[in-house]
Amino acid sequence: MPYFADIILSVPIAHTFTYEIPEVLWPDCVPGKRVLVQFSGRRICTGLVLNVHEKKPEFKTKEILEVVDSWPLVSQNQLRFWLWLASYYLCYLGEVFKAALPASLKLESETFVSVADEWDDEPGTDNEKAVVAMLNQGRLTVGDIEKRLNMANALPLVKRMIDKGFVSIYEGVKRPTKGLVDKYVRFTDTYRTQEAILRMMDSLGRAPAQLKLIHTILEMAAEGKDLADTEPLYWHKIELRKKAVLDLCGVSASVLKQLVKKEVLEELSDNAATEFRDLNDFTIPSLAEFQQKAFHDICEFHKTKSVVLLQGITGSGKTEIYINLIANCLKNGQSALYLLPEIALTGQIIDRLSAVFGNWVGVYHSKFNDTERAGLWTNLSAHAHNNSVKAPKLILGVRSAIFLPFSNLGLIIVDEEHENTYKQFEPAPRYHARDAAIMLAHIYGAKVVLGSATPSVESYHNASSGKYGHVKLTQRFHAVEMPMIELINLRKEKRSRNMEGIFCRKLLRHLETAVAQQEQVILFQNRRGYAPYMSCNECGTARKCKYCDVSLTYHKFTNSLSCHYCGYSTAANSPCSKCKSTDLGMEGFGTEKIEDELQLMYPDLRIARLDQDTTRTKTAHSDTIKALETGKIDVLVGTQMVSKGLDFEHVNTVGIMDADAMLNYPDFRANERAFQLLTQVSGRAGRKHKRGLVLIQTRQPEHQVLQWVINNETEQLFLAELTERKLFNYPPFARLVRIHIKHKADITAAKAAAVLANGLRLIQGLEVLGPQQPPIGKVRDLFLQLILLKIIDTKELDRIKRQILQQVRAMAKDSVLKTAMYVIDVDPM
Ligand code: ADP
Ligand code: ZN
Ligand code: ZN
Repeated sequence: MPYFADIILSVPIAHTFTYEIPEVLWPDCVPGKRVLVQFSGRRICTGLVLNVHEKKPEFKTKEILEVVDSWPLVSQNQLRFWLWLASYYLCYLGEVFKAALPASLKLESETFVSVADEWDDEPGTDNEKAVVAMLNQGRLTVGDIEKRLNMANALPLVKRMIDKGFVSIYEGVKRPTKGLVDKYVRFTDTYRTQEAILRMMDSLGRAPAQLKLIHTILEMAAEGKDLADTEPLYWHKIELRKKAVLDLCGVSASVLKQLVKKEVLEELSDNAATEFRDLNDFTIPSLAEFQQKAFHDICEFHKTKSVVLLQGITGSGKTEIYINLIANCLKNGQSALYLLPEIALTGQIIDRLSAVFGNWVGVYHSKFNDTERAGLWTNLSAHAHNNSVKAPKLILGVRSAIFLPFSNLGLIIVDEEHENTYKQFEPAPRYHARDAAIMLAHIYGAKVVLGSATPSVESYHNASSGKYGHVKLTQRFHAVEMPMIELINLRKEKRSRNMEGIFCRKLLRHLETAVAQQEQVILFQNRRGYAPYMSCNECGTARKCKYCDVSLTYHKFTNSLSCHYCGYSTAANSPCSKCKSTDLGMEGFGTEKIEDELQLMYPDLRIARLDQDTTRTKTAHSDTIKALETGKIDVLVGTQMVSKGLDFEHVNTVGIMDADAMLNYPDFRANERAFQLLTQVSGRAGRKHKRGLVLIQTRQPEHQVLQWVINNETEQLFLAELTERKLFNYPPFARLVRIHIKHKADITAAKAAAVLANGLRLIQGLEVLGPQQPPIGKVRDLFLQLILLKIIDTKELDRIKRQILQQVRAMAKDSVLKTAMYVIDVDPM
């Protein structure tokens, strides 16, 4: 009999914690289920069972309080995946757990306050009276009390009231009740009052399951409702997600059906959201001959290799090939995962996929609220547990979708595999979703397709060395020629006075012509805001962030200066820190300025902007895309958001406003990045009807990367990059691990970095570069130091990485140096 369970908690210390399983929970407590346990003092946390065993630990164990799930929320395959992530990316399982589960499934416990049964004394102060009055209507959290009384910290007040015996506190868990997916249930109009409900419950004496369901609904409804609200409860107005009700109650759907039949409850369905098409009944786009061949080659490769790189120029129809592969996968009874580098892209793709697969498509990304995400998660895990529960079979999502509880996963598509947004930067686990997806596929025995017009150097290397299958598409579907790319030499144009502000006249002429012909134009600039460099016109002092070693960016719309690293913002007319002058000089330009100046020159032009500042709401991005598609916009100005995978019919002209910043970026991937970005942006031009035109403004037209872009010489780029990286030991020929050391005091940061670097230098087979201060030496008031590690013998990878981790964790032994933060990034981007 298992007596103990190793529990994963979402804290970054130690991998697991061992708890004792009380006898009543023995049969119920299995790996993958959530449990409630007490952790550090009174706090109750949700943990996840990793495994159960009989090995009694040396320390005194606490007992598991409750098993939350009736079936494992996380499968064995997922747990294997988590273990791999933690060991590969050098982080704790708790950090993986935290990243993997939607917040509402983590059921963080809270301290609830309720009124004590008996008092000796009478509440004295106004606050005490107010709290008692509020609690008479139901339990509240300390946070609730703070909000109601409008106080910053109610804890002292609550403590006093506990001492006086007015209230007691206990740990409880807020359970999520409402979601947007699925069907809803509610009481019918007959049961709008509590009396009516009570009478009905009396009559259910001989139907305990139905009674239990009613109890559950009442409980959930009460929890969703603000109890101190003075309005009476209209029970019949409270709608609850059907699945959540059934899950929580643990009765079958037929019990609910009986209550619907008795007209106690009614079901509301969100239009036809639950209708699933026959899996053999998809209308799949037929492929052109060259696409058919690529499709066939991919299938052939998949017989012997798990990963295939599909390298297809923009507009070659990669998406159509993915659709065909997915259709096959679904028909085989398997499910598929379609990964995209960012939310921005999902709109167009959702439409294309839904048109074929209807409601078999499930979408998972961070602009969905947590309940929606938790809904999809529970739906998938319910399906994994019980086949008869219908669930989406094609998941479309951004990087975090790799954590979903798939069953029978057969295929993973990683679209635009070169994109660095696949890499999670903060917080740990700092995983790369493409690389993790390959491991995920390995665990499930699934196949992977990596697709891109401009593959990463790593994937190209893996494909050309035969580790991956390699399939190329060199033709476009709408036999339109690749766009014509012209360089505009800014140095020359300035000398000949051919500039209007930041625009070369030639670019403006082409823009005018395009708009006159009812075509659309995209202008690209990889910086948002109005102007990125600010300095005092009187004394020349740069306007830097208070907390970071970064120049502030001017935003005209909000008339403020803001830091793109920490979000700090100050009024644009705030005085210079040195001479108090408010005369501000600006240099450089961002998307906002492009839009602004263009509008001044052409008041009638319909301009839209697509960048982080204009897409804060859930629909803003897709609204803009729709507006462009329906011809309501003439010019779209945007950051790299416009570069990715979007397919517009009437965009034939693209202007790249400033290529130089990209070319001069200090990083070993700078050439690769610049090439990818420029090629991708160019690929938005002239996709359907006629050859596109791309104009690139630059001060260095002779730059090698620009030449490769103009001539579409992808192979040349790979050749040069691979030679260079082999010579200097960079990926894919070596592995990198980057360690950032952060501390409030720059001396401590430097000391910690030096000590750590010395320790790391003892590791055999590891090249240690640094420590040094990175180009941006301070962020969010913390000073940074950087150590870069190169592992050249990749066969020794596991050993070396383990030793790196040991060295970092050993820093905790020094009472001063342990106050620094050590951020480990494996395979940094
Ligand atoms: P990519 O993703 O390779 O850039 P897309 O899949 O977006 O290319 O295809 C480019 C355009 O060509 C799209 O408008 C797409 O609908 C169209 N297209 C490609 N292949 C086909 C096909 N087999 N049948 C119909 N339309 C296609
Ligand atoms: Zn000044
Ligand atoms: Zn800042």
